[in-house]
Amino acid sequence: MTPNAHPAPVDLLNQELRFQKGIGPRRASELQQAGVHTLDDLLHRFPIRFEDRSQLQRSTDLKPGDFAALCGEVVSAGLRPTRRRGFTLFEILVRDDAGLFRVVWMNQPFLQDVLKPGQRVSLYGKVEYRTPGGLRLSNPQYEVVTSATPSDDGDGEDAEDTNHTGRIVPVYERIGSLATGHLRRLVLDTLKRLPTQLDDPLPDPVRVRHGLPGRREALWGAHFPESETNLDTLNRFRTPAQLRLIFEELFLFQLGLALRRRERASERKPRVMRVDDRVRRSALAVLPFRLTPGQKTALRTIVEDLCRPQPMNRLLQGDVGCGKTIVALLAALVAMENGLQVALMAPTELLAEQHYLSIAPLLSTSRFRVVLLTGGSGAKVRREAALALERGDANLVIGTHALVQQNLRFRELGLVVIDEQHRFGVLQRATLRDKGALPDVLVMTATPIPRTLALTSYGDLDVSVIRDLPPGRRPIKTTVVSDARRQGVYDFVGRQLKKGRQAYVVYPLIEDSEKVDLKAATAMSETLTTVFSDYAVGLLHGRMKSNEREGVMRRFAAGAIDLLVATTVIEVGVDVPNATVMVVEHAERFGLAQLHQLRGRVGRGADQSYCRLLYQGKLTETARARLSALARTTDGFEIAEEDLQLRGPGEMLGTRQSGLPTLRVADLIRDHDVMETALREAEAALGSDGIAEPVLAKLDDAWTRRFGLAGVG
Ligand code: ADP
Ligand code: MG
Repeated sequence: MTPNAHPAPVDLLNQELRFQKGIGPRRASELQQAGVHTLDDLLHRFPIRFEDRSQLQRSTDLKPGDFAALCGEVVSAGLRPTRRRGFTLFEILVRDDAGLFRVVWMNQPFLQDVLKPGQRVSLYGKVEYRTPGGLRLSNPQYEVVTSATPSDDGDGEDAEDTNHTGRIVPVYERIGSLATGHLRRLVLDTLKRLPTQLDDPLPDPVRVRHGLPGRREALWGAHFPESETNLDTLNRFRTPAQLRLIFEELFLFQLGLALRRRERASERKPRVMRVDDRVRRSALAVLPFRLTPGQKTALRTIVEDLCRPQPMNRLLQGDVGCGKTIVALLAALVAMENGLQVALMAPTELLAEQHYLSIAPLLSTSRFRVVLLTGGSGAKVRREAALALERGDANLVIGTHALVQQNLRFRELGLVVIDEQHRFGVLQRATLRDKGALPDVLVMTATPIPRTLALTSYGDLDVSVIRDLPPGRRPIKTTVVSDARRQGVYDFVGRQLKKGRQAYVVYPLIEDSEKVDLKAATAMSETLTTVFSDYAVGLLHGRMKSNEREGVMRRFAAGAIDLLVATTVIEVGVDVPNATVMVVEHAERFGLAQLHQLRGRVGRGADQSYCRLLYQGKLTETARARLSALARTTDGFEIAEEDLQLRGPGEMLGTRQSGLPTLRVADLIRDHDVMETALREAEAALGSDGIAEPVLAKLDDAWTRRFGLAGVG
């Protein structure tokens, strides 16, 4: 290759870091591990914060607690003895125009070889007051401004340039052995090499409308802002430069999703459903109650989707207990009345069994046949069910998500309902769609998803939300109780049982071993059998055979079991309206969403329900925040927002399965408002044909690569 004096911008930014000056194999691999491969990646790794070192302070003006930038001459330097063993204190005295001040570093004895009397140094750090000794600068960043022997110091700061002081300075999160100073220098070098013209993926009108700078200016501003930039705005990542890069990323992401939706719009399903009076009568015949307004609206939208030529891809959101199942069942009836088959998938066998137990009776007077297909069903049963589906003798199959993996053949699959989406990966959704003839897909979530996440993780789905609960529900009363007051909880449970109500006691996954887990739950059920000797105590866990479990659930549902001790297998979907108490053991070990799910097992009937969250030991701050959020509210959407704040998006959805894009600069929590704008602009850009097709094709490509979602959706 001939060297090129003016490499195209793409070329420069796509250069790999491992070929850059000063990046050896070790650092290259550290960078790669952090997902930083190219110069482009490097420039899209924002500083974690900025510090204003543009204003030099005088040593006489220092106040404890300040962060101060100072410059002066080293008068003396040396290690100071300390009383603590293995602990070193390196101290220098520095003189500036105003006087002398002390600077100390803890446990960095090597500094005695770096900082020496006679040198001029620039310092930035925290001012502290200590007795004895008074004011001092502690562990500051430092830079030798003039030095006989230039040296590279421990913080990676460079003796020759002044990027580190005298200006607003970016602070980077360390990558392996690359400290902030190194990264700063690397970023600056790269920025200096940027050509004056950079390709811009943002359409000009969009950029101008939002007052955003060009790409080059933005990259500079996001790392080395002008001195007069407001520090607070910078640290909130809201300067035009930062916003531009955030917006760009989210715009491309939303554009990709919009493209995908547009592609979908051109898909045609083999058969469009119809709804007439006969279908309506058939649906009404199974309906055991009046739908809430929210259910009605959701159902209407879904049925409209079913009657459209494009396949449906809809997410049905609604808090626990809002009644999503019946909506799905009515949609299923429409499909079955149209001669199509339906698959309903649940995340656990227990839940699949539950669905089967509640749906089968409702359909018993109809002409439709339901089969249950789980890993727990025997081989013969499974074979027969599969055959019935293939022949078209069975109209509805209920099973676990494993239905996707199995080599099931349908006579004509028209609708797929996926329950409890947050456990169901985007990938699995894709597999399902590939199963053949583009069925309608309805996804139901048990955990309400904050809108930002819905826009992201399920951005390729249409969304319906049920906000209301069936009539007569009373908010569950929740209290957080220390284990020391366990007896009080037992007394309370006893009183409820005496009234003829039922209760759950739930055990968490205490260790990462089902066995230990099981032991704890089993021991508990034995204890409780003694405590509540007048009542029937049952035990339910994941290790039981499917028919045993089904038996226990059936007896609990029928009221033959009063108190059910369970592991978290009961987390989702179990529905017994007469159960009014939920006791959670070791509540401190559960996540917020999970606790909300568990609690949602009660409060399903007309009676007042209660939740007792037992905790052991001293609560950590976040555990306390979680538990008090639960005690405060029963609104799943509020809890979801809280959960997002406490845990962050990746963990909340479970990174691997979440379908979250790998974002480089945007932050789903911080930048949710930008996401909304990006969505609007992306839709508009596509709608108005404001973006030329070839550009689109390129973007789509870049999109799938950049966000790591290739082949999904
Ligand atoms: P989820 O949305 O959590 O899946 P379910 O579908 O399990 O909720 O419904 C919870 C309970 O509410 C069930 O017992 C169901 O029969 C009942 N239910 C649902 N809709 C209504 C309604 N409109 N009126 C009365 N009860 C309802
Ligand atoms: Mg449900």
